Amino acid sequence: MDDASPSTDWDVVIVGAGPVGGHAANLLAQRGQRVLLLEEHSEIGRPFQCAGLVTPNAMKQVGLFDTILEEVDGALIHGPSGTLVPVGTSGKVRTYVVCRKLFDEGVVKQSMLSGATLWLNSKPIHAEANDDCVVIKLTNEGVEKEIKTKLLIGCDGAHSWTRRYFKMGKPKELMIGFQTEVVGYKNRERWLEMYSGSSIAPGFFAWVIPSGNDSCRIGLWSTADRLDGKSIEECYHSLLNHPLWEDRFADIKETARYCGPVPSGMVKKPYKNRVLLLGDAAGMAKPTTGGGIGPGFEQINGIVDKLSLAIDSNNLTESNLKNIAKSHFEKMKKDQNRARALRNLLVSDCEDIELDHNFEQFAKPEIINLINQIGDIEKPVPLGMALLRKVPAFRKMALKAGMKLIFS
Ligand SMILES: Cc1cc2nc3c(=O)[nH]c(=O)nc-3n(C[C@H](O)[C@H](O)[C@H](O)COP(=O)(O)OP(=O)(O)OC[C@H]3O[C@@H](n4cnc5c(N)ncnc54)[C@H](O)[C@@H]3O)c2cc1C
Repeated sequence: MDDASPSTDWDVVIVGAGPVGGHAANLLAQRGQRVLLLEEHSEIGRPFQCAGLVTPNAMKQVGLFDTILEEVDGALIHGPSGTLVPVGTSGKVRTYVVCRKLFDEGVVKQSMLSGATLWLNSKPIHAEANDDCVVIKLTNEGVEKEIKTKLLIGCDGAHSWTRRYFKMGKPKELMIGFQTEVVGYKNRERWLEMYSGSSIAPGFFAWVIPSGNDSCRIGLWSTADRLDGKSIEECYHSLLNHPLWEDRFADIKETARYCGPVPSGMVKKPYKNRVLLLGDAAGMAKPTTGGGIGPGFEQINGIVDKLSLAIDSNNLTESNLKNIAKSHFEKMKKDQNRARALRNLLVSDCEDIELDHNFEQFAKPEIINLINQIGDIEKPVPLGMALLRKVPAFRKMALKAGMKLIFS
């Protein structure tokens, strides 16, 4: 530690004990930092707004295999007129479905075992970053307190207080997600399903994900402009009553429902003097799947060693945080932009008739082979680029969209 550093109560205060806040707290506490996690709710992992998909890579980092409800080998993807594209291989796990409550609790518990402190029923109401620390006023169990920390990290989700308070910009896109938990859907074991079409999920897709004990999560996501005045629940009912698929949903019984935002597109400035944003607060969800847990983990993993050294020397000015984070964050942002451009090109900006045409291409055995070889939920860009290069019907489209953005 730098002897010249001011006396602070904490080295790092993290606002938000979700999966990303919990994981960041664990990695920093493991490096000897005095970490305080603030969570506004009285328990971890509630309210629940997630399909619960966790990639094997993200799972490996936390090892919470006992929170897995189902293993998923692949996806049965349905075009607007019913063309089926099966992606995946039986017996080869592509992703896990977890209980988010247990997963979030597990991640936060790991941080506490590493030495982090958790305050429930706590949220900041005022913060001021000065030359040597951040002074935070907060409420803890209804009592106002003032604490000092070297670094404040906002892991406080899509509507981040930290991001708004420090005027750190907005995520590029804010998708709306809606989901029900049901019993009575007859799914193919170990496979999830995706449904597309403008009446169901304009520009995006709906999903049915097995979640253990005979239950499934049925959800969909889209953007306000694409919904064009329609409510997300209307789209949900269009899926349940779709002439092609209504039989599958005829016997379902709903046990729960949720609605939540999916922020995607990293904010312009995820760092300021002594303040950093991670996870949904920074707009890290994937534009192609909406998954935000893996990218949030990746964001902190890539900088934690340098960040911990900077905390030791209390050198946490905006320019030093920029030095630490810029190249890693910029690479992630570039990947997000390319994935979004490819998604728009192949799915989001297509009328149903074009989407049907694309599905006819995707359904060809040689293309399914290509998807299975190169396809990776974590890294959709290489697959998208291969599709544009190798499928003659897509080449023209790539030119139209501007090769520069996609191949840069
Ligand atoms: C319908 C839907 C389905 C999804 N499906 C998936 C999926 O299958 N896989 C996946 O990876 N992602 C999915 N996501 C996205 C995923 O839920 C998020 O990306 C992920 O939870 C982000 O983690 P986080 O820790 O950054 O934020 P959050 O999980 O939002 O956690 C933020 C925490 O901060 C707390 N908090 C907020 N404000 C304050 C405050 N002012 N003071 C103190 N505490 C505060 C909150 O209570 C919460 O505990 C889905 C999202 C939706 C809406």
